[in-house]
Amino acid sequence: PDWSIPDMLEDTADKLPEQVALSFYKQEMTYKELNEASNVFARSLQSRGVKKGDRVAIMLPTCPQFVIAYFGILKCGAIVTQINPMLVERELSHILNDAGAETIVAFDGAYENVKKVQPQTPLKTIIMLEFQPRIQLGEGDTSFQAFLAEGTGQLNPVTINSLEDVAVFQYTGGTTGRSKGAMLTHRNIVANTVQSYEFFKHHIRYGQERTLTVLPLFHVFGMTSAMLLSIRTGATNILLPKFDVQEVLETIRDEKPTMFPGVPTMYVAIIHHPEADQYGLNSLRLCNSGSAPMPVELLKAFERKTGASILEGFGLSEAAPVTHCNPPFGERKYGSVGIGYPSTDYKVVDVANGVDEVELGEIGELIVSGPQVMKGYWNNEEETAIALRDGWLYTGDLARMDEDGYVSIVDRKKDLIISRGYNIYPRDVEEVLYEHPAVMEAVVIGVPDPYRGEQVQAVVVLKSGESITEEALIDYCSEHMAPYKVPKAIEFRQGLPKTNVGKILRRSIREQYQKQKS
Ligand code: ATP
Repeated sequence: PDWSIPDMLEDTADKLPEQVALSFYKQEMTYKELNEASNVFARSLQSRGVKKGDRVAIMLPTCPQFVIAYFGILKCGAIVTQINPMLVERELSHILNDAGAETIVAFDGAYENVKKVQPQTPLKTIIMLEFQPRIQLGEGDTSFQAFLAEGTGQLNPVTINSLEDVAVFQYTGGTTGRSKGAMLTHRNIVANTVQSYEFFKHHIRYGQERTLTVLPLFHVFGMTSAMLLSIRTGATNILLPKFDVQEVLETIRDEKPTMFPGVPTMYVAIIHHPEADQYGLNSLRLCNSGSAPMPVELLKAFERKTGASILEGFGLSEAAPVTHCNPPFGERKYGSVGIGYPSTDYKVVDVANGVDEVELGEIGELIVSGPQVMKGYWNNEEETAIALRDGWLYTGDLARMDEDGYVSIVDRKKDLIISRGYNIYPRDVEEVLYEHPAVMEAVVIGVPDPYRGEQVQAVVVLKSGESITEEALIDYCSEHMAPYKVPKAIEFRQGLPKTNVGKILRRSIREQYQKQKS
C-alpha cells in the first residue's frame, strides 16, 4: 500500500478508537489517545523547528513514550534514529554524528552520557523522560511531560512519499563491527508489517490479540514484528521495559497475551525456569523467534513445556527485518527459518562470485529482494554497494535451501571457522552441545592456532546444579561429530556476554581470546 507508517496508526485509531493500544504496568492508553498524544508530540517538535527529513534520535527502553515519540517524529516527516539505551559515549557520539541528529528523546538513565557527548555532536534539543528518581536537568533541556505541553495549535501538514521518504535509520546491531545506519523507507516498514499480517492472517484476529512486547523497540524486530504488527492489527501491546524471566512469567499469567515475539535467549530463560509450567503459558498462540539461531533442542523443550509452538523466522535490519519464516499454514521444519515472506524473492548463491545459484542443499550466501529491502546505508556508499547488488540484498549469511524452498541458516560468513583447511560451521557444533542435558548455553568460535590456522573453542554455561568436566564434554562431542569439528578446548562460564536484544556477543568472546593470547 501507499501508506506511511502513521497511516497505520490513524487507521486503527479510526476503526478501534476505544481499544487499548498500550498497557504498561496496568496503565492503559487507547488507540485514540495514542494517536492524539503522537499528534501533540509532533506539534511540539514542529514548534521547535523540526521539519521533514531532520533526524530525531530516540534512546528509550520499551515504554509508551517510545511509541508516542516514534509516531510524533514520523508525523513531522522527520527520521527516527534508533539508539540502544545501553550505548556508551563512544558509540552514542558515533551515531549522533553519523546521523546528524539535532534532537534526542532519551531516558534519565542515559542523561549523563548524552550530556557528555553533546559538545562533540550536533545535538541541540534534549527531551528527557524521567522515570525515577528525578534528575536535575541542565539549562535548555526539557522533560518529556513539559515538552508535550508545548504542542499547542495545529499540526502543519506534511506530505510523505512512502516509496522514497526514509522513516527510520536502523543502526545495525554492531555484533560484527562499527554500526551502520540502514535507511528504511515508510514503504519498507509498512510492507514488512503487511507481509507479516498476510503470512499470519489465519492466526491473527483483528482487534482481539494481545502482544507481549518485551523486545526492545529500538531494535528492528521489536519495532516491526511487535509494535507495528500489533498496531496494524488492532492488538493490545503489553509493554515491559526489560526482560526479567520472573516478571515475564507473571505477566503471561496475569495479562494472558496471545502473541509473544522473542529471541532465543528469552525462550531459553523461560524453559529453564523451574516452575514455568505453572504460569498458564498456554494463552500464547503465536510465538515467533528470530534474530539469532534457535537450537532445535530448545524449540522442542519449549513446546513440550508450554504446549505453544514457536515459529522460527529470519531477518535483518536491512530488510525491516523479516524475509523468512516457518509458515503457520504448512509444514514447519525444525532447524529451518522457513520459506520467503509474501512478495519476497530469494536465492542461495556461490560465495565467491555472488551470482551463480548453488545446487539445492549446498551452502552459499543467502540473497533476498522484496519491498522490505532498505534503500541503502546512510552516508556510506561503499558499504551500500557491497550489500545491495543488482536489486539483491546480500545478507552475509551462509544458508542452504531444500527442495520445498525452506532455508536453513548455517552461519554468518564471518563466523566460519577454518581449521586445517576444513570449513567448520559453529552452529553444527553448538547444536550438539545443546543436546547435552547439562548444557544451558553454548557458543563456538575459532581462535588463531599456528598449526591449524584456527582451532575450535567452545564456551559453555551449565544448567544450575549440573556439572561435567571439560574432558567428558569433549568426549561427548567426539561421539557426535566428525573429528575435525570437535572443540579442542571448552571453557565453562557463569554467563555469556549478550547484546541488549539478547544475542550472544560472539565478537566480544572472540576478542577476549585474542587479548588473552597477546
Ligand atoms: P551487525 O549486522 O552489525 O553484525 P546484528 O547482526 O545484530 O549486527 P541485525 O540486523 O540485528 O544485526 O541481525 C541480523 C542477523 O541476525 C542476520 O544477518 C543473521 O546473521 C542473524 N539472524 C537473524 N535471524 C536468525 C535466525 N533465525 N537464525 C540464525 N541467524 C539469524
